[in-house]
Amino acid sequence: MKIDDEVLERIRSAKTAFALTGAGSSEPSGIPTFRGNEGFWKDKTPFTVESFNENPQEVWEWHLEIREMIKKKLPNPSHFTLAKMQSIFKNFAVVTQNIDNLHQKAGSNKVIELHGNIYRNKCNNCGKIFGEINSKKIPECDKCGGLIRPDVVWFGEPLPYKALIKARAYAENSHICFVIGTSGVVQPAASIPLISKEKGAFVIEINRETTALSEYLDYSIFGDASVILPDLYERLL
Ligand code: NAD
Repeated sequence: MKIDDEVLERIRSAKTAFALTGAGSSEPSGIPTFRGNEGFWKDKTPFTVESFNENPQEVWEWHLEIREMIKKKLPNPSHFTLAKMQSIFKNFAVVTQNIDNLHQKAGSNKVIELHGNIYRNKCNNCGKIFGEINSKKIPECDKCGGLIRPDVVWFGEPLPYKALIKARAYAENSHICFVIGTSGVVQPAASIPLISKEKGAFVIEINRETTALSEYLDYSIFGDASVILPDLYERLL
């Protein structure tokens, strides 16, 4: 794989960096991407609060099925390489749109989840947070009696405020921004690399194909992130 020497030098000389990851970073683990032709997500109209209110049991069961599929998957070399990046950059964080917990499983300590986590739940009424729940019947909150839902961000919902603030701080204060396996069309996550660029970071995209962001970023490496990232890491040492 070709990566220009000046790009490698730019990364080597940087003190701070972070990565924004999307569904493509978990694709080599066997979790389908949102817009891919295969798997769980392809026939689904994206969920919204309205669809949950109309048919909470169906939405609950679908998420249980997704969670059980995800539970069988393991981190791949792209997750492990991002965990290793913690040893070469100060305060390295992964800002992820993924809900699958695989960055944490691979050993990343600072994971900022923009779209929640499939293993966590919350009360749809009072917001009380719950861990994993195995009931097939949609559970009710022990505090207020409201329905419990997965703690993931559905279409049209705002992102968790604290996660967004943290992600923005990384975007504004890092020398390098890696953009890995994201189509760059889901907002506001897609604006994070642009904020980084505006603030002077060198922004490098790793994706199988050109994305909505490509033309605005500094450098693109096309291919499988689980192959490119380990190779890139070796060349930085
Ligand atoms: P997306 O499905 O819109 O785009 C995936 C991107 O990854 C595409 O640009 C594709 O070219 C690229 N890609 C696929 N395989 C790759 C590989 N091996 N190496 C490098 N690039 C690869 O995903 P998105 O941009 O993350 O947005 C979709 C939304 O769906 C997100 O908000 C996310 O929360 C959710 N989602 C999450 C998961 C997960 O948790 N694993 C999976 C699917 C969707």
